[in-house]
Amino acid sequence: MSDLVIPADLLPQDGRFGCGPSKIRPEAVARLAEVADGLLGTSHRKPRVRDQFHRLQEGVAGLFRLPAGYEVVVAVGGATAFWDAAAFGLVERRARHYVFGEFSGKFASATAAAPWLEDPDIVGAEPGSRPQVTPAAGCDLQAITHNETSTGVMQAPARVDNALVVVDATSGAGALPVDLEQVDVYYFSLQKGFASEGGLTVAIVSPAALARIEAISASDRYVPAFLDLATAVDNSRKNQTYNTPSVSTVFLAAEQVDWMRTQIGDLDDVVATQHVKADHVYGWAEQRAWATPFVTDPSARSLVVATVDLDGSISADEVNAVLRANGVLDTDAYRKLGRNQLRIGMFPAVDPEDLAAYTACVDWVVERIAG
Ligand SMILES: *Cc1c(COP(=O)(O)O)cnc(C)c1O
Repeated sequence: MSDLVIPADLLPQDGRFGCGPSKIRPEAVARLAEVADGLLGTSHRKPRVRDQFHRLQEGVAGLFRLPAGYEVVVAVGGATAFWDAAAFGLVERRARHYVFGEFSGKFASATAAAPWLEDPDIVGAEPGSRPQVTPAAGCDLQAITHNETSTGVMQAPARVDNALVVVDATSGAGALPVDLEQVDVYYFSLQKGFASEGGLTVAIVSPAALARIEAISASDRYVPAFLDLATAVDNSRKNQTYNTPSVSTVFLAAEQVDWMRTQIGDLDDVVATQHVKADHVYGWAEQRAWATPFVTDPSARSLVVATVDLDGSISADEVNAVLRANGVLDTDAYRKLGRNQLRIGMFPAVDPEDLAAYTACVDWVVERIAG
């Protein structure tokens, strides 16, 4: 089957539809190549690199219109490292976690494994749905996931009690609406919505969260230096990281933020374009007898990661194999979810025309393998 050749005029311009790492705009890579000689392989403690770092921080601050006193912290290690850093440096005694997929579950596992914390208070929901955010007596941190990348479900951050609101926005940031007044820490890796590479976390941090970080750091709790958020805050204020960062990751993310702000507009404008793309993909799935959006509640359907179940008579693996052989990449379901599903990254860098081409390609493949 995978020797099926999709007609060239149906193919997308860019065949990258993965949910992380996701499409990096070729223009940004070309720009990196242009400046590489004076940037890559130079000291991250010197102005050229620190200027790029600063450009990323300022760009993020502008895109999200930071409330007064909030800071943009950049830390080494992606979101996965940040979970451990948060277990050490943000949770005072007990965290509430909303677990509705793989990524939200992993942060809960990190605080559950920390012997200096009480067992987390976990509120779960079946994959494809989301739990409701509710007050959590006895918890000092509410761990919310803006977009559960493994299932394609969104959850809006909300402040419902006095706990710090800490939001994993790795796949949602820069594409989903957020009111930062409702949030204390909004953190994300850069290889999804920010069309860059892995290895760094950006965290938008409120004054209350900065105070918590400082208080825990000054306490007698042991915190490994690499995971010390107080150190990350200090270094970020100097446009640096504790140890050597990936400079290309910083540069590509800064390019993407500038591109979003100059080519699309403010965050509301980006969200509006995300709605157009999501409407196309979910609308397409609803119109096909053999496809159904996995997430039944339309208001929970992600604007960045579309999950589409296929009828049992059509193998998603087979569809993906044909797509892959034709350069249309990475729309496999999250492996542990174990569904006959396409999972499509629709991040800001992905063109609406390419999503239209993607669905046309799937139609073409299904017509040939069905039966
Ligand atoms: C991808 C992803 C992560 C993991 O990011 P890493 O940079 O690989 O650590 C965490 N949370 C969410 C919601 C994600 O989508």
